[in-house]
Amino acid sequence: MRIVLFGAPGSGKGTQASILEKEFGAVHISTGDTLREAVAKGTEVGLQAKSYMDRGELVPDEVVIAIAKEKLASVGNNGFVLDGFPRTVAQAEALDDALLELQKPLDAVINLRVDEEELVRRLSGRRVCPKCGEPYHVDSKPPKSPGKCDICGADLIQREDDKPDAIRNRLRVYQEQTAPVLEYYRRKGLLRDIEAAGGIDEITRRIKASLGVQ
Ligand code: ADP
Ligand code: ZN
Repeated sequence: MRIVLFGAPGSGKGTQASILEKEFGAVHISTGDTLREAVAKGTEVGLQAKSYMDRGELVPDEVVIAIAKEKLASVGNNGFVLDGFPRTVAQAEALDDALLELQKPLDAVINLRVDEEELVRRLSGRRVCPKCGEPYHVDSKPPKSPGKCDICGADLIQREDDKPDAIRNRLRVYQEQTAPVLEYYRRKGLLRDIEAAGGIDEITRRIKASLGVQ
C-alpha cells in the first residue's frame, strides 16, 4: 500500500501512520520526525530547520523534498505511508516526479478532517517524552505519574511548536500553504475524505474501509 496521510497539525496523522505501518507492513515516512532527529543531532539540515519549526513555519521545500526522496529511495519493495509530506503544491509535484521515476504510483491520499477547535485542544494538551518519544495528552492520555514518562521515567516536555503562538501560526500556514494540495489530489481522483474526530481505532477502521481493505 502506498499512501499519503494528509491533515492539519493535530489531525492524528502520526498516530494513524504508526498503526498503518504495522498493519500494511509499510514504511512510515514522517518528515517532521526526520527533521526533529536532525535538530536533536545538530546536523546541517537540523540547524537550517530549527527556527522554522519552532515558529510553526514550513521548512523550505528543497530541504524537505531532499529528505523525502532519500527516504522513498530506501523503501525497497515495501509500501509506504507518508506523514506530513507533501505540505505544499511544489512538494506534491516533486513527489509525483520521484514516484514516476521509482514506478511506484500512489494508491490514495487520506484526508483526516478535524475541526479547528478540536485541533487546538489536541495540540495544546500534547506532551512528549524527550528521551523515548512516547506521546501523551493531558486529558486524553495522561501519564500515570504527573509529568513523567510511563516507559522511561523522563520528565515530559511540551514541544516548542505546541505553544499557543506557534499553534496559531501552524494552523494559518496549513490553511494558506497546505490546504491547496487537497485540490491537487482531488483532481487526480486520489483523495479520500475521512471524518477524524473520535476514537483512534474507529478512525483506523474508516481509513481501511476507504482503501477497500479489512
Ligand atoms: P504537525 O503535523 O503536528 O505540525 P510535524 O511533526 O509533521 O507536525 O511537523 C513539525 C514541523 O516540521 C512543521 O511545523 C514544519 O516546520 C516542519 N515540517 C514537517 N514536514 C514538513 C514539510 N513537508 N514541509 C515543510 N516543513 C515541514
Ligand atoms: Zn520516555
